[in-house]
Amino acid sequence: MRRNDVSAMYPAAAMARTYPVRRDFALVSQIFFYSFLTFQRFNVLTFFLLLLATTACRSATSAPSLERFTFTSPHMGTLFTITLYTTNKASAETAADAAFHRVAALDEIMSDYRADSELMRLCDQPFGKGVPVSKDLFDVFTRSEEISKLTDGAFDVTIGPCVRLWRFSRKRKAPPSTEELAAARAAVGWKNLRLDPHARTATLLLPNMRLDLGGIGKGFAADEALKTLKGRGIDRALVAASGDIAIGDPPPGESGWKVGISGIDVETNDTAYALVLHNCGISTSGDSEQFVEINGIRYSHIVDPATCLGLTNRIQDTIIAPNATTTDGLDTALSVMDVQRGLALVDSLPRAAALFLKKEHGQTQSFPSRQFKKRFPNFSPN
Ligand code: ADP
Ligand code: MG
Repeated sequence: MRRNDVSAMYPAAAMARTYPVRRDFALVSQIFFYSFLTFQRFNVLTFFLLLLATTACRSATSAPSLERFTFTSPHMGTLFTITLYTTNKASAETAADAAFHRVAALDEIMSDYRADSELMRLCDQPFGKGVPVSKDLFDVFTRSEEISKLTDGAFDVTIGPCVRLWRFSRKRKAPPSTEELAAARAAVGWKNLRLDPHARTATLLLPNMRLDLGGIGKGFAADEALKTLKGRGIDRALVAASGDIAIGDPPPGESGWKVGISGIDVETNDTAYALVLHNCGISTSGDSEQFVEINGIRYSHIVDPATCLGLTNRIQDTIIAPNATTTDGLDTALSVMDVQRGLALVDSLPRAAALFLKKEHGQTQSFPSRQFKKRFPNFSPN
């Protein structure tokens, strides 16, 4: 996770605004709904049978009406917001408490600003030694490794030494020297974090390695919070960790949650577009709010693992996939990959849709992926 002081340094990420869908979004929702079924390879006949069954049940017993509740709590250097539907305040509060508790526990494991977090304790172990880790840490490492493979190393949780260098550079207002960059790069590379699923151990293969889960931890925590709510019978819920959102079943009587994504120009505070979503994750990443400026050059807090340099492209990407862990990891990688490579990757994934916004010479251009165009045909750029 990013440190608290760092989140002040890089103010809050592109914030996705969330609220239940109104009827005027019904058309978009329906389109999404049907395409989502295709996504899930869901048996349509089974679905309609189930639908008939639920309708029949509903008419036989009149269920108590659901109320909407919203809770917020600061974690991981940002504000987590839970919106859920249930029948009464007491169960809403207990469920939200449990979900925030889960997020806090994950923060204690994954934080890179708490010297005693499990992640930092692992980094303090001698390199080459297999260290037993908790199931949560092992799970997030496993998901990270999958995303590193998928993105050919553009996503890399061993990026820590480079991220630290850029934080330090910002404080001293000078870019890292060539020697500093070389030293940091020598301790980076996702293949140097070895995972053993049988022994559930992690081994750092190089000296001076530093792990950083800032690119995936919020999405993972949002997914876990949503699971906690589901475990308590609350399925109509949404957990937003700033720009990383885990989305459950739709609000009652609606076909999805309306999620507004801000444009690349944070100064104008515009909403570039709004989507209606359910049962998926969505993340937005980019340099619109989080950057450092040194000698007139704007460097993103996202670092290219191949060079150890903060990104200088003005890009924002939004990705939708089955869960928020995947979207959080991928949104960071897509920024590194840039539009052409990023679109090629997203178009190769059957269950992902993305939108890139790129600012060049004062002009913002948008690049929707194939699935994005198909699922949101009414999307009109800018
Ligand atoms: P945000 O923190 O704004 O949600 P991201 O999800 O893109 O944005 O995460 C950015 C964070 O990820 C950085 O602050 C840093 O901790 C970490 N990071 C930077 N570059 C990479 C990278 N190439 N791969 C994985 N993590 C990265
Ligand atoms: Mg991310």
